[in-house]
Amino acid sequence: MEDKIGVFICTGYGIAEALDIDALSKVATGEYNIPFCTTIDSCEKRDLELVYEDIKKEGLNKIIIAGISARRYTEEAFPEGVIVEKFGLLEHVVLCQPPNEEDTQMMAEDYLRMYITKVQKMATLEPFQSEEAIDKSILVVGGGITGLTAALDAANTGYEVKLTEKTDRLGGWLAKQYKSIPTRPPYRELEDTNVDALITEVEENPLIKVYKSAITSEITGAPGLFDVTLKSVANGKSGGEVLDKFRVGAIIQATGWKPKEPRDELPYGKVEDVIRNVELEEMLKNDGRITRPSDGKEVKSIAFIQCGGSRNKEHHSYCSSICCLTSLKQAMYLRESVDDAKAYIFYEFIRTPGQYEDFYRRAQEDPGVFLTRANVADVTRNDDGALVLTAENTMPGEKIQVKVDLVVLAAGMIPNSADGEAIRAYEDAKVTAEKGESDTERDRAAETVAKLIDHEGTEILNLNYRQGPDLPILQYGFPDSHFICFPYESRRTGIYPSGCVRQPMDGLSSKEDAAGAALKAIQCVEMTSRGEAVHPRAGDQSYPDFFLQRCTQCKRCTEECPFGVLNEDEKGTPLLQATRCRRCGVCLGACPERIVSFKDYSVDIIGSMIKAVDVPDEFDEKPRILAFLCENDAFPALDQAGLHRLQYTPFVRIIPVRCLGSVNSVWVTEAISAGFDGVILIGCKYGDDYQCHFCKGSELAFSRSENVREKLEQMQMENQRVELHQLQISEYEKLPEIFDKFAEMIEEIGMNPYKGM
Ligand code: SF4
Ligand code: SF4
Repeated sequence: MEDKIGVFICTGYGIAEALDIDALSKVATGEYNIPFCTTIDSCEKRDLELVYEDIKKEGLNKIIIAGISARRYTEEAFPEGVIVEKFGLLEHVVLCQPPNEEDTQMMAEDYLRMYITKVQKMATLEPFQSEEAIDKSILVVGGGITGLTAALDAANTGYEVKLTEKTDRLGGWLAKQYKSIPTRPPYRELEDTNVDALITEVEENPLIKVYKSAITSEITGAPGLFDVTLKSVANGKSGGEVLDKFRVGAIIQATGWKPKEPRDELPYGKVEDVIRNVELEEMLKNDGRITRPSDGKEVKSIAFIQCGGSRNKEHHSYCSSICCLTSLKQAMYLRESVDDAKAYIFYEFIRTPGQYEDFYRRAQEDPGVFLTRANVADVTRNDDGALVLTAENTMPGEKIQVKVDLVVLAAGMIPNSADGEAIRAYEDAKVTAEKGESDTERDRAAETVAKLIDHEGTEILNLNYRQGPDLPILQYGFPDSHFICFPYESRRTGIYPSGCVRQPMDGLSSKEDAAGAALKAIQCVEMTSRGEAVHPRAGDQSYPDFFLQRCTQCKRCTEECPFGVLNEDEKGTPLLQATRCRRCGVCLGACPERIVSFKDYSVDIIGSMIKAVDVPDEFDEKPRILAFLCENDAFPALDQAGLHRLQYTPFVRIIPVRCLGSVNSVWVTEAISAGFDGVILIGCKYGDDYQCHFCKGSELAFSRSENVREKLEQMQMENQRVELHQLQISEYEKLPEIFDKFAEMIEEIGMNPYKGM
């Protein structure tokens, strides 16, 4: 179809007072021969309706609106099939530059050139449609409280569910609990777990099929098209018999947690009658009373040691979330079941968030519960068989001793996705790397830390993915995710970790988490069936096209794709599993052959935008700086900078990119060849607490930048001409400083010698 482009220039918000609108229009009508260019009074509903009318009347199929920044639109009802590009003439020019200056006008005109060029190159999106029907059923792996709730929530919304549990019974840890902490007002009384009712509800739901003693021995495919093979489990091991094979659209991994093995500094395993909280719970569930393991005597006093291995700087440094509540609950069991019983709780901090504070208050009010802030120094056994616990650094500063029948450690929680031994080895190595006696010992330990930080977890899902059989995990074994913005997402599209495998949480939070994961899974199958991306580019209908005739099988795209989208054939040619794709463009940035493109984002489109800028020659003394800003944080920060009227150099021209990882280094060299004096790349923070919406994209850009600098050196250019920054949206105030300092540096080192060549 022939392009019919229209340009709409907004004159509201003070834009007309700051710019020469006639001159700006002439860029469209004169330089680019755009047949339809008009002004609108605002970018709000009533004026946008006039735009819709013009689109229909003029038969426009591509339009540009130069007005307020695209991110701030609330009205989006453009006729279907029309390509719409909006840019922030207000925030990115008028509000950050002095009005009616030559440089301000030049900036506005350049942006118009860039966006006209962009739409000229863009093609209408055609959502990916699989040849096979997209399956909308959901697989839930794990039959504990999270898995049961997720299965019910999905089924009650009308989706078919397959629920697998590796043991021979449903219920997980919930089924091993004697009572539950309070979940209802007044949050003071222990409650029945109601696990049997929950299991019955699941088993009787016609939309849920339950498989017990089953593991997923293989999962191939992609969202909407996952093929699952289930095998039987006997005595905790795969029995090898295939139980079933089926297709699902999305997967919820609710595989729960295991208690941490206490470390050597705690008396567990060395002194009899020192047990963990899970063992006390099991004892009550089975026998209904608390007895001493050593002699079966009824227990009348218990000392609870909080953070029994958690929240230690050297190992298991995170809070396991439920241990404080569990000890308070177990203290209540004791107090409610034995007259004059005494419960001593030794803690560093008690954590009972939200309404659970009322439960904590109840324990504080109980005269038989003694809450003491202290470190436990020692646990020994008296001649009379009692345990003597010595605590120091107490709040009043005195050493205290208590005689008890039983000591209970609040053992920490580790996710079942973690390999406990690998984590222990990692933690030990971390300590030695810091405190080892010799340089050699410390260096060796540091190498082990580096090796183990990316250790693989336990095999649960058995994904047939080039990048490994399970969700990539973080240092403590929790599946990697974007914890700030998308906590439910994992690095495998369509697979949603939920409950304690995602982060430590209590039963109530697990249920909420399960509802969240069920919704994510539903969203995934629905969006996949429409050919749309899921988070974070939810609704995006583009997807990457690989021009494989020119592929050199270098494998960079397969290795760098953060989401494991690309499989390979035997020669190493990437095989796109399109429904796994998050449309980040990292493969586009990675490919040295420049053969990966989206219909609305490609090496050619961005390269043409760069070349559209009118770069003055060196005698004008007007440098030009190109900046690539990540659309997720840095570009919205630019909007904020504008809205706060922060002023910066008029010589910068900014291009938003899907992710800094999508920046192909050819854009940098093309910019330098086009006469730009320097290039700035601004992406999200990376590292352990990364904020990159595409996990490793920003980090990749930084690691690739070395190649860019080398290329500059080959071109006999100063490598300072390329600068990379990490920025989060709240740091918008830093943007002017970044741009201005870079402009000063360019002034110092001089203009690009390639200018005008
Ligand atoms: S790198 Fe990003 S765009 Fe490319 S295949 Fe992977 S998820 Fe899709
Ligand atoms: S990065 Fe490009 S050339 Fe290399 S394997 Fe991928 S598509 Fe082929």
